[in-house]
Formats: sequence, structure tokens, C-alpha cells
Amino acid sequence: MDIVILLGAPGSGKGTIAGRLASANANLKHVSSGDLLRGAVAKGTPAGLEAKGYVDKGNLVPDALIAAMIKDVIAETTGDVTMLLDGFPRNVAQAEVLEKTGAPIRSAVLVDVPDSIIADRIAGRRTCPKCKAGYHVKALPPKVEGICDRCGAELVVRRDDNPETVRDRLVVYHRETEPLIAFYEKKGILRRIDGDQGPEKNAAAFLAAM
Ligand code: ADP
Repeated sequence: MDIVILLGAPGSGKGTIAGRLASANANLKHVSSGDLLRGAVAKGTPAGLEAKGYVDKGNLVPDALIAAMIKDVIAETTGDVTMLLDGFPRNVAQAEVLEKTGAPIRSAVLVDVPDSIIADRIAGRRTCPKCKAGYHVKALPPKVEGICDRCGAELVVRRDDNPETVRDRLVVYHRETEPLIAFYEKKGILRRIDGDQGPEKNAAAFLAAM
């Protein structure tokens, strides 16, 4: 098992890229910290109850809470698998926790997208609450409006995808997460791709870079 980290702003397309690559390659596993947290919130587990207020406001949940979830997933992932780690680490403290697990990190790939196009992307984002597939009303519409192509569930707008919360999430991204670019650059494992090429080319560019 080894790990490829997806770095990038909210709405940069990390989840779409990782989801596509994982469904096309049996040895790639997509692990999304946001999906893990939303799952825990929906189930009402103790971690979910603690996380809910942070997630709804677009703030980071406490490091220990998300780190425990990610460590569990790492521990249960064995064999010839590359984990596409999406949404973790999100600050330097979390990156240090990840190093301490001893899991080998192959690369960290930055999906580069200017802030100016993020608001539009997130405004049109629709998400499947059941299988977690992501759509966009214009750029990546489902075959039947409002319905997930993959599993037939009704698509939803995420609670934290409203314009004010998106603005806050971008502030948090620049303050907390962007320093990870230098962190992984120093280790010599940072790669960058242009995240504004459309879903298919983004995924291909990511696969080549990782
Ligand atoms: P996006 O990348 O579009 O912001 P995510 O699904 O990755 O969305 O995350 C949604 C929310 O979950 C974040 O705004 C934050 O509240 C929480 N979250 C996800 N990952 C982490 C993390 N590594 N550390 C702290 N909070 C996190």
C-alpha cells in the first residue's frame, strides 16, 4: 500500500478526479475525508455529532477527530493498493500525523485552479448522498436531471456549498492548507496539474503526474 495525496482548494475537482480514477482502476482506492465526516454526521456517531457544527460552517474539524478516522482506514488498507487521499492532510499538523503512521507517501499532487472560477463551480455542484458521485449542472450534468447516473438516488446540494460558506472555506484553504504545497515541495514529492481542463483531461493529467 502507498498513498497519493490530492491537494487543492475546495471545488478544485479533487473528488471528481479521485472518483473517476478509482472506478476505472481496481488498485486505486479513493478516501475522502469529507465523505467520511459526512457519513459519520449522517449516522449520528459520536465523532459525527462532534464534527457537524464545524462541517456546516466550513471550518476544519479538530485534527484528532479526522486523524483517528484516517488512521483506521490506513490500518485496514493492505495489499497492492494506492490510496488517493482526498481532503487529508489539510494543515501541517495533520501532515505530521500522516508521516508518523509510517505509510509510504508516493507523491502529493496539487490540482491547481484559480479562486475566480471556484465560486461558479461550487454553485453548480450536485452530490449523490448515496454513492458520493459528484456532478455539475453545466460542466458535468447527470443524464437525467437531479438523478445520479450511477445509483439512481436523488442528487442534493451540500449544506456547506452556499456562497458565504464557500468564501469561508477558501479563506481556511489559503491559511491552513496552502502551506502544505511548500511542505511537500521540500520533500521533493510535489507535482502540479492544471485543474481547469475538464473532468476527463484532469483525471488523465493527474494519473500521469502521480
Ligand atoms: P471541500 O474540499 O469541497 O471543502 P470536503 O468534502 O473535503 O470538501 O470537506 C468538507 C468539510 O469537512 C470541510 O469544510 C471541513 O469542515 C471538514 N473536513 C474535511 N477534511 C478535513 C480535515 N482533514 N481536517 C479538518 N476538517 C476536515
